Amino acid sequence: MTQMMNAVQIHSFGAPEVLIYGQAAIPQVGPRDILLKVAACGIDRKDLSIREGTIRKKSIAYRIASNDKSNDIEFPLILGTEISGTIVEVGSQITQFTTGQRVASLPRRGHCGTCLYCHTGRSESCASAWFIGQDANGGYAQYVLVGADSICQVPDAVDLQDACMSAACIGTMIRAIRDIGKVQIGEKVLITGASGGLGVHAIQLAKLAGAFVIVTTSSSKKVNQLKMLGADEVIVTEKNRDWSSEVTRMTAGQGVDVGIDIVGVSNFKSTLKSMALYGRLVCVGEVEGGVAEFRPAIALLKRLQILGSYAPGVEHMAKALELLANKKIKAIVDSYSPLQDAAKSHIKMMQSTDNFGRLILVPGD
Ligand SMILES: [Zn+2]
Repeated sequence: MTQMMNAVQIHSFGAPEVLIYGQAAIPQVGPRDILLKVAACGIDRKDLSIREGTIRKKSIAYRIASNDKSNDIEFPLILGTEISGTIVEVGSQITQFTTGQRVASLPRRGHCGTCLYCHTGRSESCASAWFIGQDANGGYAQYVLVGADSICQVPDAVDLQDACMSAACIGTMIRAIRDIGKVQIGEKVLITGASGGLGVHAIQLAKLAGAFVIVTTSSSKKVNQLKMLGADEVIVTEKNRDWSSEVTRMTAGQGVDVGIDIVGVSNFKSTLKSMALYGRLVCVGEVEGGVAEFRPAIALLKRLQILGSYAPGVEHMAKALELLANKKIKAIVDSYSPLQDAAKSHIKMMQSTDNFGRLILVPGD
């Protein structure tokens, strides 16, 4: 008989009300699978994009691997990519993990280990790596399947629930700040949309790297919290207001050396104008989508580098867990909520007025 679990499924794209709490079958474990009892699942911006129907297709990797030409996301789907939990069952071909271990997972699984990207530490670009919570069911549930190539053990010193943020949340920012932005001691760094799950950890990582950190937020209520995390300067933004003159003033006319842009289009003009000569603008998030105006001459005149930073790899997740264990950074959680409150949590994240840090779902027993 099929065993059942509590889960939140979507049966169509739409408003938060399409998130339906109920029962779903516990996944069957294949030879290469690991079954986790989910301790926590962070709510990623991508979950909202899939639920809204902004993302309607499975990943390209899944299409290649499955030869599925239509590639449409299949319903019902369980969302959720930021997962931590305890291993309850391992597939027959898995030798490196065992039941009872506490682990966190990347948002994807199944990279080949042999292609150019896998060989050069860029497995997030492997054409065989498909996405949990998009191509297959995710972590808004009591149980989820993950891959042995995509998980890390969680140190005893790290809370297992908070560990769900180690990959897609903190790991993403480690790649953006350390690997792509190459932030150096004493450089001036701008972080847009700093009060969300990515931003609150980005501030801490940029300070750890020795930077002077300027951040933006859309809410004046969050200024003190952002300063407590280490932000040297906070700019309160409003929609369609150019705030770059404030960055100019805060940097004695020079602008910032590195821009970590989590917001995207709605802030792009101001972010671009805030960059110093020879600056590195790292695009790592996009909240609303759409098209931003860009004059290529600006890149030339400012000798600017515009860089894209994508999802983390296992080593970024491992580094995030190490930094949490050593108390070099703190996990910043807005709230832990039961699965039944998934829709409420999506609404809170969309409104973005009261949230600070990651909203996390806890499936419970
Ligand atoms: Zn590969």
